[in-house]
Amino acid sequence: MALTNGDVMADMEELNDGLSARTMIESGNGLTYNDFIILPGYIDFTPKEVDLSCQLTKKIWLKTPLVSSPMDTVTEADMAIALALCGGIGIIHHNCLPEYQANEVQKVKKYKHGFIRDPIVLGPNNTVLDVLDIKEKHGFCGIPITENGVLGGKLLGMVTSRDIDFLETNNLKNTKLENIMTKLGELVTAPSEVTLSEANSILEKSKKGKLPIVNPDGNLVALIARTDLKKAKSYPIASKDGNKQLLVGAAIGTREEDKQRLALLAQAGVDVIVLDSSQGNSIYQINMIKHIKFTYPEIQVIAGNVVTRKQAKTLIDAGTDGLRVGMGSGSICITQEVMAVGRPQATAVYKVADYARRFGVPIIADGGISSTGGIIKALALGASAVMMGSMLAGTTEAPGEYFYADGVRLKKYRGMGSIEAMTRKDAVGSAMSRYFHSEGDQLKVAQGVSGSIVDKGSVLTYVPYLITGIKHGCQDIGAKSLSKLRELMYSDELRFELRSHSAQQEGSVHSLFSYEKRLF
Ligand code: IMP
Repeated sequence: MALTNGDVMADMEELNDGLSARTMIESGNGLTYNDFIILPGYIDFTPKEVDLSCQLTKKIWLKTPLVSSPMDTVTEADMAIALALCGGIGIIHHNCLPEYQANEVQKVKKYKHGFIRDPIVLGPNNTVLDVLDIKEKHGFCGIPITENGVLGGKLLGMVTSRDIDFLETNNLKNTKLENIMTKLGELVTAPSEVTLSEANSILEKSKKGKLPIVNPDGNLVALIARTDLKKAKSYPIASKDGNKQLLVGAAIGTREEDKQRLALLAQAGVDVIVLDSSQGNSIYQINMIKHIKFTYPEIQVIAGNVVTRKQAKTLIDAGTDGLRVGMGSGSICITQEVMAVGRPQATAVYKVADYARRFGVPIIADGGISSTGGIIKALALGASAVMMGSMLAGTTEAPGEYFYADGVRLKKYRGMGSIEAMTRKDAVGSAMSRYFHSEGDQLKVAQGVSGSIVDKGSVLTYVPYLITGIKHGCQDIGAKSLSKLRELMYSDELRFELRSHSAQQEGSVHSLFSYEKRLF
């Protein structure tokens, strides 16, 4: 007997088990990432083929949907450079003086792969002892010598191990470097415009280990090391602007003085500004969005944070290019506990993304991501990208020194609304404006905690692990790209299921006496 259309539809109905995102979210309670799971789809491609390109804002596209939080234990220049090399973007925090923040932005924009932009430099009156100290601390002693002993000064020469190893002087350690350095006339240098491959062939021909880079006035601007060149990897998916400079974002508040900070950031070449507030639905954000769009039309703006459609509408109407979604879901956050306001993150992401897409405004799911699974879930609910704090804290590139507790190597990670962040010496930016709407707030009420987090190694090895994890997730789902993932979700083809408490237990490691959790 031939099948009718109706039979086929009924068949499809029967096969479509689980819930659509819409039904799952509308079912009532606010949901977190942990409350649901995604049902697998059909695989006809390899994880390698999955395209993770995404839209950060109306005009900025990335190859990797990963953004680092503007927090003072997460994002300064090192993090932003590493993340941009891996295809994401870092947002430099503003819990510091405006000049400091602008300088961090400039470091990212000026970054040239393989170029050491902040080499250790000495002056002619430094002694061999200083060189030996550096060798002990850093393991190298190829040091440029400038007139004033700092980067930017007139280059006078270089000291290398060859200059000191065979010296036979009674008073070796007190010998001034001007007496033993290889003088400028005998040095090979290169101009600022030199490319990495040109530098490579200069170093090969000259058989030198280090190549000082000088500007037309003869001032030292960078250094290239042969050892770095040898291990220099290429980063084909790096996030770059039209001038091939890395993309970078910076956070600001919405006070009058933030306009001055903004001017410095614009001068430094920032690509995207994030308006940093835990509750973004305000007259202050409307005014700041308008100010930025009018004064710096080339800069993209991400406003927020929001968790409801009404909040999103205000900022979309004001002209924002992107939205940051999340309130109270951050790992270091006590906003929901203290203020009784916020929203479970999965519901917030779905609700805002579903509204904002009608206006072509991408959303960033911010906070509460603790695994690659969390990233995939946020993207599957409509987020274009995810913003992470705890996932990236503890890496080599996160600001702060490592320390040990109980034999474990740790770094500090703290909320920007923690008392510790708000009382930082130069805390003129985020902590004060993100969590206080009025200058008159006398008593600081903490909205975050301060803690520590385990060493994760370098972002340059950690992020590729995250990327591979996301691609595997997309393969299991049957989505060859992130836009396909959203298409499957909005067409109800992507199916979800709520997880009971015991389902959550079953879904994590259980029934073992002990185990080691190594992720890569
Ligand atoms: P995580 O990725 O779960 O660690 O969350 C990071 C996010 O938490 C940030 O991007 C901010 O949106 C948010 N956040 C940062 N500091 C605080 C705080 O002190 N209180 C509440 N939320 C915070």
